[in-house]
Amino acid sequence: MSPDETAALTAAMLASGSTLERFDDPRPRVDKHSTGGVGDKVSLVLAPLLACCDLLVPMVSGRGLGATGGTLDKLEAIPGFRTDLSQDEIREVTREVGCVITGTTADLAPADKKLYALRDVTGTVESVPLITSSIMSKKLAENLDALVLDVKFGGGAFMKSVDDARQLARSLVRVGTKMGVPTTALLTDMHQPVGQMIGHAVEVDESVATLEGHGPDDLVQLVLALGAELLVSVGQEATGEAARQRLSDHLSSGRGRQKFDQLVRAQGGDPDAPRPVAAATKWPATQAGYVTAIDAASLGWLIIELGGGRQLMSDRIRHDVGVQLQVRVGDAVSPGQPLLSLFADPHEVPRVRPWLERIVQIGQQPVTVGPLIHERLTDD
Ligand code: URA
Repeated sequence: MSPDETAALTAAMLASGSTLERFDDPRPRVDKHSTGGVGDKVSLVLAPLLACCDLLVPMVSGRGLGATGGTLDKLEAIPGFRTDLSQDEIREVTREVGCVITGTTADLAPADKKLYALRDVTGTVESVPLITSSIMSKKLAENLDALVLDVKFGGGAFMKSVDDARQLARSLVRVGTKMGVPTTALLTDMHQPVGQMIGHAVEVDESVATLEGHGPDDLVQLVLALGAELLVSVGQEATGEAARQRLSDHLSSGRGRQKFDQLVRAQGGDPDAPRPVAAATKWPATQAGYVTAIDAASLGWLIIELGGGRQLMSDRIRHDVGVQLQVRVGDAVSPGQPLLSLFADPHEVPRVRPWLERIVQIGQQPVTVGPLIHERLTDD
């Protein structure tokens, strides 16, 4: 399909349902979409931060796909948090808090649900024009003034190679722009998970720590880069540098954390209620060397195997299982040094040993790590 045909299909899918109503409010409406990655908790941090910058973020989000966890599943680790808001509730929370993170409603791009089921049984899930129209029909139904896309590549991502990710990113940016929404994309590296924590409750904890100014470097870098794209797109800041500074100030001042708590309460959750985490078992290195790779996909599948993801649509997921990575690619390690902590029933450890053995790979030669943000795409 040509870009025009892809845009026409997207417009038709968008018109198959309703869109989120624009209410009378001068704040620009923006959103970020990620193609998904292991440990990707950017939405939990970015939505409240953008709301602190006087933007509206009506974020309609998804559940886990393949080895990657979903934003909605993570947020449901917070006792009481609702992800099934009606269109009226979405409008009220967006107006009151400045951001909302919820699941899709039956009347947003209903054609996508039918087409997705059809793609599943016709081997066309991987088609770039069909992925583009699926993602963009849902995002454009939010009635946005600007959109940024985090298109990930690498072992823990939907697109394994940077070339495939670039092709998808180009297609998404073209369609967004053609349909009148300024859209940019960042190609970001998913050869290792985002942050140290993977799992639902522990990812919420890491997001909260980030909103209090104590986040891991890679997560903070992604949040600031994606947020800066939006602040510049809608003209709230003249330069990326000024935008990053403004976002960063909301992390260090604690305003980001306050906004997150306000969002959680508005969606029925209790930000102060305990989020249980299973017992920790340390997994040590057996040899000296350098971390050459972290198998993000195996890590994602391990969490699913422990009950932290669905194997059947009807499965209830466990929020208390997870992993804390204690090393990054490139680190030197010595025998006995913990590589990771597993949060799970200790009786499960022998069963999941094959996954654990694959996660952190150690070699004898130091490796260099590529940049986290590989490339920026616009529709020029
Ligand atoms: N996410 C979507 O929403 N649709 C696709 O086709 C692929 C990923």
